[in-house]
Amino acid sequence: MSGQMGDSHRRFLQTMMAIGIVDEQEAKALHRHCCETHNTPYGSDALDDFINTINSKLQPLFMQITKGMSEDNGQQYYALVNMAETDITRMSSDYADNELELFRKTMDLIVVAENGKASSTDILNSTDSMTTKKLKKSETEHLLNRFVQDKWLSEKRGEYTLSTRCIIEMEPYIRTMYQDQVKVCHICHNIAFQCQICENPTCGIKIHNPCVAKYFKGRAEPRCPACDDFWPHEIPEATEVRRPRSRSRR
Ligand SMILES: [Zn+2]
Ligand SMILES: [Zn+2]
Repeated sequence: MSGQMGDSHRRFLQTMMAIGIVDEQEAKALHRHCCETHNTPYGSDALDDFINTINSKLQPLFMQITKGMSEDNGQQYYALVNMAETDITRMSSDYADNELELFRKTMDLIVVAENGKASSTDILNSTDSMTTKKLKKSETEHLLNRFVQDKWLSEKRGEYTLSTRCIIEMEPYIRTMYQDQVKVCHICHNIAFQCQICENPTCGIKIHNPCVAKYFKGRAEPRCPACDDFWPHEIPEATEVRRPRSRSRR
């Protein structure tokens, strides 16, 4: 059951349309802000109901606010998703054909990479086999910055990963396009790029780094949840959920 759509819901939606993706803390703060601005009753545990109300109105437009996890820190995010176009063509209003080809090539590299990352060198080299108008080195570097700014890719020390927004929006497309290569997390069952892999050759399950951290937390000896072999990887620390910044001043 979903309630009536009011001004507070509309304000929340307008913000999501402007910024595309927010983390859970930001979503909670925005929910509160929208309710307070429009004098609507606010419950700190009512965010999902609030979003369901918006989603019921978005459904006929093939839009939806969808939740997903960041592969970097395990935090939950909310993204406004276009359900009618979950593939790369939805980027075609913002990018030229050869720019989209580079995005596809980058995605290819990321999907097949064991660590879920593509280096800037590998991406630059991939332009050699472009079938559309070839991008120069400087154009490629500029374009990669744009992909990061537009929240399709994330970059750390010259290595590129698919952004949380991209994974949430394009999961159906990625699952269809890369059926045989795509990795799925054994714990949360979502697609996984940055993950650890069981080294038992008859097992080989994958687990997201943040899911590894949560699953093995407090266990004396980490063992694979599927085959019970010793889990040989370094167990990352579970990241604390970020608290909203205090507004008080000294
Ligand atoms: Zn997972
Ligand atoms: Zn295993």
